[in-house]
Amino acid sequence: MPRLSRRSFLAASAAFAVRPAIGAPAPSSGQIDVIIVGAGAAGIAAARRIAAAGRRCVVLEASDHIGGRCVTDTRTFGVPYDRGAHWIHLPDLNPLSRLAPRRQIDIYPTPASQKVRIGLRNAREGELEDFLAAQVRATRAIADAARKADVPCAQALPNDLGDWRPLVEFVLGPYNCGKDLAQVSAVDLAREAERNADAFCKQGFGALLALLAEGLPVQLSMPVKSIDSRGTLRVETPKGTLTARAVIVTASTNVIASGRIQFTPDLPHRQIDAFGRLSLGSYDHIALELKGNPLGLENDELVFEKSTDTHTAAILANVSGTPLCLVDVAGSFGRDLSAKGEAAMVDFAGEWLTRLYGADVKKAIGRTQATRWNADPWTLGAASAAVPGGQAARRILAEPVSDVVWFAGEAAHETLWGTVGGAWESGERTAEAVLRRMGLLRPLPPSPSETETTPKRRSKRSRGAPRAQGPGGTPSIMREESR
Ligand SMILES: Cc1cc2nc3c(=O)[nH]c(=O)nc-3n(C[C@H](O)[C@H](O)[C@H](O)COP(=O)(O)OP(=O)(O)OC[C@H]3O[C@@H](n4cnc5c(N)ncnc54)[C@H](O)[C@@H]3O)c2cc1C
Repeated sequence: MPRLSRRSFLAASAAFAVRPAIGAPAPSSGQIDVIIVGAGAAGIAAARRIAAAGRRCVVLEASDHIGGRCVTDTRTFGVPYDRGAHWIHLPDLNPLSRLAPRRQIDIYPTPASQKVRIGLRNAREGELEDFLAAQVRATRAIADAARKADVPCAQALPNDLGDWRPLVEFVLGPYNCGKDLAQVSAVDLAREAERNADAFCKQGFGALLALLAEGLPVQLSMPVKSIDSRGTLRVETPKGTLTARAVIVTASTNVIASGRIQFTPDLPHRQIDAFGRLSLGSYDHIALELKGNPLGLENDELVFEKSTDTHTAAILANVSGTPLCLVDVAGSFGRDLSAKGEAAMVDFAGEWLTRLYGADVKKAIGRTQATRWNADPWTLGAASAAVPGGQAARRILAEPVSDVVWFAGEAAHETLWGTVGGAWESGERTAEAVLRRMGLLRPLPPSPSETETTPKRRSKRSRGAPRAQGPGGTPSIMREESR
């Protein structure tokens, strides 16, 4: 989900069409090292790391597409539509933008132009300054409180936010992490990495992730039903039971907490508690085709409302120069609205835009679509945000349950939680840890220059951190036992 920085603000005043080539054949015979549950960012990163180490893996994905919460749909509107993640945070450091094949993918910085709407007009420069000052005071107060105790963020807010309070609460809570501030840990928010630079991908963030999955052994429509780690590790799917040396589970915290995957033996209480403390917030896009730019906004311009209550949203206009406009709803209001269904969501978007831009906007609405991530059975929400007192749960998630059952995903990242980059890093790190724990990391031969000039100790160090390689060349996979 997007983050709003002072710098950027001041500067202004499913079966989805992008389908990667799935490189591996259906499950066949052969010993598999690691099974990865889920083909989202964490699962793809883990698979690439394992393949790069020359080890065998398979990615079992329950849904019919790659990407999980980062997926681009080009069918609904005929232009790329990111149904989940769209903002590439910290693009210079983000592993996905760094790996992006530039011949196929255009990544460009988000424009500086952002607005706040007050009724039917835009906020003036001075009003924007007031809002930003209020936001800075709120962020500082949360950080100060977090140094003393892990209280709900709402409790830490200063009393002097005035009539900017509802917008400050919306931006820091629902818009930032999908939950109202009363339900968010001050320590979690304070530890969140500052995301003060962002970029967009013209072809869609999900399209980029799908490209990075090319050639990996992904099996779609292959929901994992149970994982039995007594003796030989056995992972059960509707098409058979697979065996491996380890499993990395990247399903969302809500999916794990729902009991959709059965673990034998039961997960330790500590782990179950951690999933509960990292429950997912609610965040949805109501996508509208608005022909003729009736809002009069720039491409990719972001607009908030100076609201008086929680019934508000954010607009991302003219996405990558297309007529697509995203009205984003989140937090408890977004959750209640999405529970009413897609038609109610589209109605809300039309009424809300009318309130901010006048009645003509409704006439310009063409095709529509609204995501309902809380109802997606393989996600059950948007992104994790720790409940008050729950921040430490992120570290617990990153611990292996045993030597063979591991968890990864956005929720396991201590500072980049709720992002694609965080999920990717978590997947990569977990794969590395699994390989190391199992003694599966192959020592890299020293390069010719190292043999000539580098002392032996140096090449030992490089054994611990082998160079990343492309994902190709993964062998065909595993043993399938009929049920
Ligand atoms: C609406 C929305 C907007 C967002 N905006 C941004 C943004 O702008 N920028 C950003 O960086 N992040 C954003 N995020 C968050 C980001 O999308 C996630 O943090 C990230 O994609 C999570 O990746 P993951 O691999 O941890 O999990 P997932 O993407 O959820 O991947 C897990 C996979 O596991 C699969 N799975 C679940 N159960 C099973 C099972 N039993 N068997 C097999 N497979 C299973 C799921 O189908 C899924 O594909 C947004 C999220 C949403 C919902």
